[in-house]
Amino acid sequence: MTFNKKAIKITAIVLACAIFITASVFAFMGIARAVKIGNIPEVVYEGEKLNVILMIGDGMGANHLKAAEARYGELFMKSAPVQGELTTYSRYLFGATDSAAAATALATGVKTDNGHVGQYLGKEKQSTTELAISLGMSTAILATEGVDGATPAGFSAHTSTRNDLDGILDDQLVSGVDVFFGSNIERYASLSEKIEKAGYSFFDSTSNLDMSKEKVFASFEEIALEDGGSTKPTLADLAIKALDKISLNEKGFFMMIEESHIDKCSHNNDLDGALSHVKAYDNAIKAVVDYALNLGNTIVIVTADHETGGLQYNGETSEQMSDSMYTLTHHSTVNVPYFVFGNIDYEFAKVMDNTQIAKLCQAVLSASV
Ligand SMILES: [Zn+2]
Repeated sequence: MTFNKKAIKITAIVLACAIFITASVFAFMGIARAVKIGNIPEVVYEGEKLNVILMIGDGMGANHLKAAEARYGELFMKSAPVQGELTTYSRYLFGATDSAAAATALATGVKTDNGHVGQYLGKEKQSTTELAISLGMSTAILATEGVDGATPAGFSAHTSTRNDLDGILDDQLVSGVDVFFGSNIERYASLSEKIEKAGYSFFDSTSNLDMSKEKVFASFEEIALEDGGSTKPTLADLAIKALDKISLNEKGFFMMIEESHIDKCSHNNDLDGALSHVKAYDNAIKAVVDYALNLGNTIVIVTADHETGGLQYNGETSEQMSDSMYTLTHHSTVNVPYFVFGNIDYEFAKVMDNTQIAKLCQAVLSASV
C-alpha cells in the first residue's frame, strides 16, 4: 500500500515535470516565432503604378544557382540590377515552410501554417491576383506542374489544406483569372467539361490554343525543358503567349509564373534534373524580362518559395558535381535569393521577408501615380 502510494506520487511528479517542460518548450518557441513574425518592416512605396510579373522557382536556393552556373555558364537572372535575399519561415514551429504557406506569404503578405492556402486561421486573405482583378487588371497564373499545385493555388484559391485539389479548382474557376497554363493533362482532361461550363475555353495543345477567347485554361502533357511540340511547350513560350493577351489591358496586369520542378527534383536529390529546370527557368526569365522591358511600365520579380534539399556547393566543376551534394530530402530554412528587373523607384532591403514581396506587389499595382 505504502509502496503504491509512493509510486503514484513519483509518477505524478514525473508527469508534472514532463508537462511543465513541454509547455515551456512550446511557449519558448511560440515567443521566438512571434518575435520573428513581428519583426517585419512595413512596405512604403510612393512610385508609379506598374504591371507586375512574379516568377517563383520552387525549391531554388542560392547553391542551386551556383551549381547551375558551373554547368551552364552565367545565368541571366544574375544580371538583375536589384538583388537580395528573402526569409521564408512559416508559422510552423519546428522547421521549414512548405510551398503552401510560402505561396500564401508571397501572394497575400500573411504568414500562415504549413498546408494552408490563401488563408490564416480559417480567414481568407486577399491575394495580389485578387487585388489586380478588383482594379480591373488582367491576370495569368502559370506553372510547370498542374495549376492546382500549392504555389499556383496560393495565388488563385483559399483552402485549409493544399490536398483539397477539387476545392482549389472550384475556387480557380470563379477567381476571374484570365489565363491558367499548367501540365498534368491526365487530371484535367476529365475535367474539361466542368472547366468549359465555368466559362473557360479549355485547351491541351498550342496548335489549337485560341488566346482570343475571353478566359483560357490550358493543360499540357508537359511543360518541357526544350520545345517538344504542341503538347510539350516551354515555360518561356507559354509566358509570352500569356503576356500577348494580358498586356492588351490598358488598366494593367499581374502574372505569376512558377517553375515547379526544381523542388520535385531536389526532393529526389536529382541534381542533374534540378539544374536543367533552373536553366529552363532562367530561359523563361530572360524571355519575360525582354518582353517587359520592351513593353515598359512593368517590373519582374524573380525569387523562390524556399530551398529544397539543403544543397551544398563548394566550387565543384560540372563533372565533379553529384547527387551527394544534397544534405536533405526535404525543405531547408536557408534564405532564398530575389532579383528585380525593370524601372522601379523603391529602395529594396538586402534581406527582406517573403511577406514583403506581396506587400510590394500590391502597393505597386494599386499606386495612384
Ligand atoms: Zn517541396
